[in-house]
Amino acid sequence: MVMSKLFGIVSTDMGIDLGTSNTRVCLRGRGVVIHEPSVVAVKRGTTEVLLGGNAVGRTAKEMLGRTPLSIDVVQPLKGGVVADFDMTEALLSYFIRRVHNRKRWFGPRVVINVPSGITAVEKRAVFNATERAGARKVYLVEEPRAAGLGAGLPIHTAQASMVVDIGGGTTDVAVLSLGDVVLSASIRVAGDAMNEAIVQYLRRNYNVLIGANTAEEIKVRIGSALFIPDDELEGGGVLEVKGRDLLAGVPRAVAVTAGEVREALQDPVDRIVELVRETLEQIGPELSGDLLERGMTLCGGGVLLRGFADLIEEETGLPVRVADDPLGTVARGTGIFLDHLDEFAAILECAEDEL
Ligand code: ADP
Ligand code: MG
Repeated sequence: MVMSKLFGIVSTDMGIDLGTSNTRVCLRGRGVVIHEPSVVAVKRGTTEVLLGGNAVGRTAKEMLGRTPLSIDVVQPLKGGVVADFDMTEALLSYFIRRVHNRKRWFGPRVVINVPSGITAVEKRAVFNATERAGARKVYLVEEPRAAGLGAGLPIHTAQASMVVDIGGGTTDVAVLSLGDVVLSASIRVAGDAMNEAIVQYLRRNYNVLIGANTAEEIKVRIGSALFIPDDELEGGGVLEVKGRDLLAGVPRAVAVTAGEVREALQDPVDRIVELVRETLEQIGPELSGDLLERGMTLCGGGVLLRGFADLIEEETGLPVRVADDPLGTVARGTGIFLDHLDEFAAILECAEDEL
């Protein structure tokens, strides 16, 4: 540190929530400073990131669906794990550079989350990509611990806490006690699967193909997990979207109703509720007692689907609370680890030891 101060080189330690859909970056004492989609645009068939390495995040997502033939927009993470190593590195490298602006920098220490229950090889991929992207030291935090801390749960006490994180690629359920993940379960059904279910529904029922961004817009604007009166929805619960007619091969507009979207979403929604129920069944009697009283906390962008929290409450009979700003919960928790890095360093995994 003294050396870096001497030469005017900055090193800003960072917390990164590397999600399948979104990446958030937080800085010590400043909270979340970057929140962008986890996508990278490259020259087709190569690993060359466009705009000199800067076609990442929002800039790249805007290219999705209307990309000229010479561009590929890739999502480097799938189902919570690294699917494309080079692109994950490019994504992280972009965010690390953004934080340091154009200042000369010295590799920062990075706290980054990994899903609970992934393999050692999958962990190592996150670790190596972060290091190659320029980190001097990398600390891995299990995602449910970050989610629990970020949601303000007393995860370090003996009382059990339950966190359900419905993200883009996966839904992760975990029970925490004494700072540890006692039980966790995950399925690759979350926000992306909901979008895909809407695409399939329109294809089946209208012979119209829509893009993933359009499906997401439908979900966010009029989607729900439970019946919601039409007059409480935007446009009376009807949304006109454009797609391509699969028979005629021409663009066509379709008016989609909230009832149809609910029907389309039923399968992924049910599977998520089922995962929560199955996890509850596996919990021992003592921890169950705690949960009966204290219930569970939901986070991740998927919980923003209208009526989802109410449905989970109905289906499990437990009290359900939605974390404040559910899209930022894990990042906030990662930020808390970062703020106390010196205390926590010993319990977070870093390369040399546990990997
Ligand atoms: P990850 O951490 O896996 O990147 P996020 O927690 O950022 O995921 O959640 C992203 C998901 O949340 C996306 O599938 C997105 O469509 C969904 N989402 C965001 N806002 C809403 C909303 N208002 N209603 C329904 N789903 C939403
Ligand atoms: Mg997440």
